[in-house]
Amino acid sequence: MDHSDDYQHVNYLWDDAAAAQLDPVERLRYRSNQLGADQRITNTGGGNTSAKLTQTDPLTGEAVEVLWVKGSGGDLRTATRANFASLYMDKLLGLRGLYDRAVVKGAKTPIEDSMVDMYRHTTFGLNPTAASIDTPLHGFIPFKHVDHMHPISAIAIAASADQERLTQAVFGGEVGWVAWQRPGFDLGLIMQQALAQNPHYKGLIMGQHGLINWADDDQECYALTLRLIEKGARYIAQFDKGDQTFGGKKYSGPDAAAREALLVRLLPTLRGLVSQHRRFVGTVHVTEEVLNFVNSVDAPRLAELGTSCPDHFLRTKIKPLYVAWNPQTESYEALLAKLEAGLAAYRADYTAYYEACKHPNSPAMRDPNPTVILIPGLGLIAWGKTKSESRVTAEFYALAIEVMRAAEAISQYQGLPRQEAFDIEYWLLEEAKLKRQPAEKELARNVVVVIGAGSGIGKAAAQRVAQEGAHVVCADLSVEAAQATADELVKLYGQGIGVAGTGLSGCGPALGLAVDITNRASVQALFGQVVLAYGGLDNIIVTAGIFASPDKTGHIRDEQWALTYAINVTGGYLVADEARTIWKAQGLKGSLVLTTSVNGAVAKGGSVAYDTSKAAANHLVRELAIELAPLVRVNGLAPATVVEGSSMFPRDRVIGSLAKYGVAFSEDETTEALRAKLANFYAQRTLTKTPVTLADQAEVAYLLTSRQFAKTTGQVISVDGGLPEAFLR
Ligand SMILES: [Zn+2]
Repeated sequence: MDHSDDYQHVNYLWDDAAAAQLDPVERLRYRSNQLGADQRITNTGGGNTSAKLTQTDPLTGEAVEVLWVKGSGGDLRTATRANFASLYMDKLLGLRGLYDRAVVKGAKTPIEDSMVDMYRHTTFGLNPTAASIDTPLHGFIPFKHVDHMHPISAIAIAASADQERLTQAVFGGEVGWVAWQRPGFDLGLIMQQALAQNPHYKGLIMGQHGLINWADDDQECYALTLRLIEKGARYIAQFDKGDQTFGGKKYSGPDAAAREALLVRLLPTLRGLVSQHRRFVGTVHVTEEVLNFVNSVDAPRLAELGTSCPDHFLRTKIKPLYVAWNPQTESYEALLAKLEAGLAAYRADYTAYYEACKHPNSPAMRDPNPTVILIPGLGLIAWGKTKSESRVTAEFYALAIEVMRAAEAISQYQGLPRQEAFDIEYWLLEEAKLKRQPAEKELARNVVVVIGAGSGIGKAAAQRVAQEGAHVVCADLSVEAAQATADELVKLYGQGIGVAGTGLSGCGPALGLAVDITNRASVQALFGQVVLAYGGLDNIIVTAGIFASPDKTGHIRDEQWALTYAINVTGGYLVADEARTIWKAQGLKGSLVLTTSVNGAVAKGGSVAYDTSKAAANHLVRELAIELAPLVRVNGLAPATVVEGSSMFPRDRVIGSLAKYGVAFSEDETTEALRAKLANFYAQRTLTKTPVTLADQAEVAYLLTSRQFAKTTGQVISVDGGLPEAFLR
């Protein structure tokens, strides 16, 4: 079992040929990526790797030993060279003197925390990447390569009641055990000492935390990490309880379709309940493993114990909210009542935990709402300030379930003691990290649905709100066009981190969906998908519209007339009417922007269906503003003559308009050239004499959505370059 041969619980991914082409730092990056690629080896953002390399000191030209170690933040799976800090080994080890001179030292002392700032003084090669609190765990181990992972099998051993005995039973003498201690300088010294006293150790199980192991060769270190994890997993597998896992099954859930329908109904209410302080974005995670846990006899007892690995509970909080609801015998109303009571009890509990564990200098209490909610039959619902955060939270609790399953198979699962959990959650160093984060953008924590996002103003609006931190659902009649806009946004802003979320809920910051707003069932289906993806929605911008080009006499066919009204008027109404249910269930402020037109105010002939439909849309804005108050603001955006990239101006219409206004053109000019001509002609009719662009429209759509227009509702804002005949009276 030394190399790639028959691992069952990890994947051996090392490729000698690939590694051989890399420089020593890149080999470390390579090793890290291979380790991070498997969640059974480590969680998103969890664990770190290091290499002690001999390099030339730029100051002296001499060879020096440099510790390259994964820095603060960052994630092994996606790490690049820039995620690694580099420190002079002699200077790092020299910090020991400073530490020893402190009168009060040890875990959680001020001198220990102050060492983190000292690492910057040991930086080699002007590397701007900050060293993490785990740096001494690597620095004080006298081997060239060190891997510190959070594997399920090792955490399970480390979170068992008799973890020290189990370490011996699983690994014989080759792996030692150190009791839980918050990572830092002192833990590094403890490990150094454990190894000095037991020079045959190849690694250590870190109580309640994970695994650390080492070797002088990088490939050997990688292989050792895998071998130890595999060894632990094989040991655990012998004791697997099968059907009796978690005490056996207590509930059985609805089938997949019924569960989905229930989630669509529940999620907006749930989002509203947990978003009382600040809005959260949700991730639904429903796997067989999760269902086996939430439906089990032991779930309430185990949920109460919370997660173990410190990495996990920074996001999952001290414990999840488990709701003891029987999906087979109890009603939806009973579920809501139990959720409300459960949330109230959770908040009270969290406040009591804070009060009991706080220190005189602790940061103020954070949001007391749970970030993980477990419901029999429904699964796991996680909440975070962004999609990415809630996905990581779901991932961490799903991993915690695996840890509990394994620990309960071989022993009894133990959570981290409350005070220790608190001292991590409210660690001043963590607080400093939070404070260093940039201020949240205007539409952070918001889910914006843009209908018509496949092209023109809708696409520009989707891009604009994404720029303000919104999660954007790009909806369009053409799912391909919607998807293309969403793909561009995900490419620009990144998928984020975290490997969780089932079905649509595994999405990133943007999503492309199909909708036909003339069809109520289609609108309903769209919002159901939005709710499953993000847990709810906040703002809607409708830019979908149609201009049926009249014939030479200025008329359109009856079915075109009907379609014009179906899209331009009824569509906006159906969207508002279906979203109303979600907005009400959430009880959170929202906004709706309908795109109308200056044609709604100017009677000019030649486009009577379009113009009258837009006049109706203007009044729809006012009616909806009254109907949806006080929760939702409704405003209209009235563009004029945006010719650039607009689906409303196909070549035929451009040519028709140029002919109508007597602007000289030739049939062989490109569509873009013809559009520019028309745009310029329109510009000359306006007060500002400048063509009106998609960006101009998107800006106002965004502003009407934002808090900057928090006191404006029932208004139609023209973005037309200034057309006196369109001034609203
Ligand atoms: Zn760790």
